[in-house]
Amino acid sequence: MHKLSRPSQPVELAQAKRSYTGNISQDEAWKAFDKNSAREALRIAQNGLCGYCESMLTQTTRIDHFEPKKHHYALTFDWDNLVLSCDEKDSCDCKKGGNFNNYWINPYVTDPTGMFKFYADGQVQGLSVDAQNIIEDFGLDCPSLETKRKGVLSTLQHTLFALLDEPEALAYFLQEEADMFPTAYQQIIHNTIGV
Ligand SMILES: [Zn+2]
Repeated sequence: MHKLSRPSQPVELAQAKRSYTGNISQDEAWKAFDKNSAREALRIAQNGLCGYCESMLTQTTRIDHFEPKKHHYALTFDWDNLVLSCDEKDSCDCKKGGNFNNYWINPYVTDPTGMFKFYADGQVQGLSVDAQNIIEDFGLDCPSLETKRKGVLSTLQHTLFALLDEPEALAYFLQEEADMFPTAYQQIIHNTIGV
C-alpha cells in the first residue's frame, strides 16, 4: 500500500449521490449505477494497481467500498469511500468483504509509509499490531500474493547484486520504475543497496 491522491469526482457519481435517498437498497442502487467513469478515474489515480496489494489490475476489477455501504446508505456513492481493488479471492476487496475495523487505513486518506516491511521472498510483516492485523484482514500475506511478490522482488534483488560492481549500469537500472508492488520494490532497493 502507498498513499494515493484522489482525483476529482466523476460527474455521474456526484449525480447518483445527490439523487439517492436510500429509497432502494444500497446493493440495488449500486448495481444499477454505471461505474465506468468512477472505475477509470480510480484506475488512472492508482497507476493501474490495486489500491491495497499493489498488484497489476486486470480487466476484472472491483470498486471497493472502504467502509461497507450497508453501514449507511450515504456511503454507497461517497467518492471518498471508494478504492479500486483487484479481484483476488484471498485478498483485498474479496477478503475484506462486509467487514470493517477502525484501525484499517484507506490509502487515499492515510499514508502507510513505515507500516509494512517487505522481504525479497514475498513475505510482508506489519510493524505495529494494527499493521499486522491489516495484513491479515486484507489477506496481504495470502500465498498467491506472496508468490507474485517473490517473483518480482527476488528478480530485482538478483539484478541489484549483479550490478553492484557496475555503478553506471546500476544507476541506469534504478531509473526504471516498478510496474507493480512499488512499495515493496523501493524497500528491497533500499535494503539491498542503501539508496
Ligand atoms: Zn489487491
